[in-house]
Amino acid sequence: MFHDLLDLFYPKICNCCSRELSGKEKIICTTCLHKLPLTDFHLNNENAVKKVFSGRLDIENAAAFLYFRKKGMVQELIHNLKYRGHREIGQYLGNRYGELLAGSSQFNFIETVIPVPLHPKKLKFRGFNQVEGFGKAIAKNSKLSMKISFGKKINHPKSNS
Ligand SMILES: [Zn+2]
Repeated sequence: MFHDLLDLFYPKICNCCSRELSGKEKIICTTCLHKLPLTDFHLNNENAVKKVFSGRLDIENAAAFLYFRKKGMVQELIHNLKYRGHREIGQYLGNRYGELLAGSSQFNFIETVIPVPLHPKKLKFRGFNQVEGFGKAIAKNSKLSMKISFGKKINHPKSNS
């Protein structure tokens, strides 16, 4: 009842389109959920991300969950996560991606999830690492023997974190 009362004054809104969420919807509305621009790179190892890293790092597979477009729905999600502190978005996306990766023959052998660390100054400013919740949720929801390991930041092409 308390939560219902809170929703009356502070309705939960979609983190993509800002419309009010219905009772069963969480984080994003059903319409936006069906419009999420999935890459399906986990099903095709000859993808754009793999090509970016090929020859620069010794990797076997690479993937990305969503396509990013300026002023698109993914940008809104990432902004809500990074700059508005909606950490639940990282967990939500990690849950969904973990399930996809667990069903992929190219990724279901993964043993460890390593979120890219934030620079200490950014971590202090933001108060959290936006990819940490994403990584933890991937590890948990993939139902594989994944674990979180916090490594040193590596330089990779076009890093904006
Ligand atoms: Zn929406």
